[in-house]
Amino acid sequence: MTQRIYNFSAGPAVLPVPVLAEAQRDLLALPNAGASILEISHRSSTFAKIIENCESDFRSLLAIPENYRVLFLQGGARLQFSMIPMNLLGAGSQTADYILTGSWSKNAIKQAELEGSMRIAWDGKETNYDRLPRSENLDLNPGAAYAYFTSNETIQGIQFTNEPEVGDVPLVCDASSDILCRPVPVDRYGLLFACAQKNLGPAGVTVVVIREDLLERCPADLSPMLNYRTHAEQHSLFNTAPTFPIYIMGLVVRWILDEFGSLDSLYRHNQRKAQLLYEAIDASDGFYMGHAQPDFRSVMNVTFRLPSDALSSQF
Ligand code: PMP
Repeated sequence: MTQRIYNFSAGPAVLPVPVLAEAQRDLLALPNAGASILEISHRSSTFAKIIENCESDFRSLLAIPENYRVLFLQGGARLQFSMIPMNLLGAGSQTADYILTGSWSKNAIKQAELEGSMRIAWDGKETNYDRLPRSENLDLNPGAAYAYFTSNETIQGIQFTNEPEVGDVPLVCDASSDILCRPVPVDRYGLLFACAQKNLGPAGVTVVVIREDLLERCPADLSPMLNYRTHAEQHSLFNTAPTFPIYIMGLVVRWILDEFGSLDSLYRHNQRKAQLLYEAIDASDGFYMGHAQPDFRSVMNVTFRLPSDALSSQF
């Protein structure tokens, strides 16, 4: 076997070897299909089974209620930064609340502001985005179209452990860098999305979990490719779906089910792994300087610096 290195990249991230081995084994021809996943139609019965199984395993891992739709889209998480306000702001002059916790929520706000007016419900700038707000510190607008947060700020390495309390306003979450790392109460969300290339599979597919009633807000005059309703009605097959990333995601979610059985058990595993790194940081007498305040440390992205830029780059 080709030598594989330890790959600590936050994303595109390492994939389980059994997933890669199965994809390699079946790359020339999927069992009973006589052709590669790279060649078959997104409307073939073979692919229909792949996307159905992928969705049903993903739903069972996250315990997604029936009144939520799962969409497999393209354009990465970045396109969601625009599609969310395009679809959910609704008619009139509604605004949305954004919780500004680091680089990715900042990017999301910048893109959303091209679509309408956004309010910042909290900003972690004062302490250089090393912590997260308590719900009581949020300045929320009860009339907001939605309230947006980033469950794990990849670059800062800070992660929410509980959903922010936003009352009846639909909660929207960028879970790109922590989806499936632990169970979440999906029924508390209006919309949850994640690009695949960190926790789900390779780049090329972005998963959106949306509460069905929110589809009614999607403006009819929006370009169909940008409209959640199109993708929900067409079961993510409006245009040619990214068959390979969806196939790999299907193998990843099946692997999680086989290997861990549940997200509870996967979460315990993630906590143990993160603890090893945080213990090393804490025991280093300040040599490794963690960015996140201890209460907000991510189990996904452990961020730290060394005493000088030269040492950091050598590391
Ligand atoms: N949100 C978060 C939390 C991320 O970590 C990333 C990827 N680094 C993105 C959004 C952007 O994802 P994409 O490149 O798929 O647009």
